[in-house]
Amino acid sequence: MNAREYYYTVLAPDEAGLSYAALHLEADGRHSTYYEEHERPTEEQWAAIFRHVPEHSNDALLEDVFKKIVDRSPVRLRPRLNNMFIAKKRDFRPIAGAYYFNDSYEGELIRFNVGLSDACLQYSTLFADFLNLLRAQARRSNGEPVPEFSRLSERVARHAGQLAELQVRWSKIAGVVALDENYLPTSPDSLEYAIKTAVLTDYFILAHEIAHHLLAHTGAENSAGEMLANIPEWAQDWIRVKTSHAVEFQADALAVLLLTGSGSQREKSDIVFEQRVWEAAIGSMLALTVIGQFADDAENDTDTHPSIRSRFSAVGRVLASLNAHAFRDAVEDILPFQQLLFRFQRRGIGSWDAQFTQSLTNSKR
Ligand SMILES: [Zn+2]
Repeated sequence: MNAREYYYTVLAPDEAGLSYAALHLEADGRHSTYYEEHERPTEEQWAAIFRHVPEHSNDALLEDVFKKIVDRSPVRLRPRLNNMFIAKKRDFRPIAGAYYFNDSYEGELIRFNVGLSDACLQYSTLFADFLNLLRAQARRSNGEPVPEFSRLSERVARHAGQLAELQVRWSKIAGVVALDENYLPTSPDSLEYAIKTAVLTDYFILAHEIAHHLLAHTGAENSAGEMLANIPEWAQDWIRVKTSHAVEFQADALAVLLLTGSGSQREKSDIVFEQRVWEAAIGSMLALTVIGQFADDAENDTDTHPSIRSRFSAVGRVLASLNAHAFRDAVEDILPFQQLLFRFQRRGIGSWDAQFTQSLTNSKR
C-alpha cells in the first residue's frame, strides 16, 4: 500500500478519494469575497480544479508544487519521493507535519493545513503591496514624480492595520486562522505577485516536510544526509546544538537545496540557479516571517524548537552560501517588511541586526 492508498483507506475513508476542492471548495472558495474585486476563475478553471484526481496530493496546486520539487531532486531520491502523499486538510491551525507509520504502508505522508496557506496568502498580499510602495519610494528618492505614492502608502498602512487586527484574533484563539469574510482585499496591480509569493511559501513549507522524511527524522532511512555535508561549515547551524533543534535547521537547509536543484545532476545555467536561489529565499524567509508572527516568542529557543529568529538567520546563511547576490536581493525586501509587521503588531522578528546582514551579504558565493 502506498501513502495515498493508506490515506484514503485507513486515515480518511470519508474523503472517498476525492480532491480537496471537490470536498470543500464549493462551499469555501467559489463564493468567497476574495474574488469579488477581481476576475474570478473561469468555469473551465474551476472544473479543472474540481476534476483533480489525487496522485501525490488531494490538492491540485500542492500536487503541482510537489511534482516540480521532485523534478529538481537528484534522480536517486525520486522513487522514495514518488511514494509520498500530501494531504491538504481543512484545519485552520497554521501548521504542517511529516508522518511515517512504521511498517503499516510503503511511503510517507505530509499533512498541510489550509490555515497555513491561508495565513501565508494574507501576509503575501500585504507583502506585494508593500513592495510596490518600496519601489515607488525608491523612484521618488531618485527625483522621479510618483503621483500614486500617497495612495500606495495609505493602502499599506490600512492593510497592515487590518492584518494586525486579524493576527490578534488568530493569536487569541490559539493560532487558528479564522478568515471567514475578513480576507485582505488585493489590488489588481499586486494580485499576481501576491499569489506568486504565496506559492513560493508553499514550496518551502512542503520541501521542509519532505526533508524531515528524507533525513530520517520521522523514522525511515536517511537518504539525503550527504547533501547537507556540501554546505560550508559556517552555514551548518545544526552542528553542536541539541538534536531537537538540529533537525529543524537541517530540514530548512535541505529544503533550500531541494528547491534550488543543488545536488541534482542536471546542467543548469548560473542565471537559472540564481533565480531559484532568489525564489527559495523569498519563500523560506517569508514563510518563517509568517510563522514568527504566530509564535509567542519568536526570539528565544524552547526545549523542543529553535527560535524562529535563529531559523531565519540559519536559512539565510545557507542561501548566502549558494548565491550571495540572490540572497541579498531577497533579504533587502524581507527585512523592511518584518519591520513593518513589528511596528503594527509588536511581535515577530522585525528588529534586525544590521551588522549581521552586512556580514552575510559581503560573503563570497
Ligand atoms: Zn520541521
